[in-house]
Amino acid sequence: MKNINHPRLRRHYKIPALPKCDFCSSVTVCWLYLTRAFTVPRGDSVIHFGPDWATCHQCHQFIERKDCDGFVKRVAHGLRIDMNARPDAGPFYRAEFESFLRSTNGPPLFMPEALCGTN
Ligand SMILES: [Zn+2]
Repeated sequence: MKNINHPRLRRHYKIPALPKCDFCSSVTVCWLYLTRAFTVPRGDSVIHFGPDWATCHQCHQFIERKDCDGFVKRVAHGLRIDMNARPDAGPFYRAEFESFLRSTNGPPLFMPEALCGTN
């Protein structure tokens, strides 16, 4: 367990703002995953994602269980995506989840004092 002064956490939130889960937009962010940048194909193009992802506890649990179905439902609900109207969304978030898992560097950093709404 590391503290909120980890340099990569400070870099992640270099602009003062309300922290949000990088996946579902929840404001109860508790975890930071140190990752490499990665890409996810979308249609005829590729979406580039930067390193390091902050997550809420719920997304963290899906990640740790490698529960892709639960993760995709959580993200779609959080981002208010109608999966019936957006048939491309499910495959995209599945690919994002798998690419994210492959890009992680070690265990996530737990930081409840920083981002879980207690400050
Ligand atoms: Zn989340």
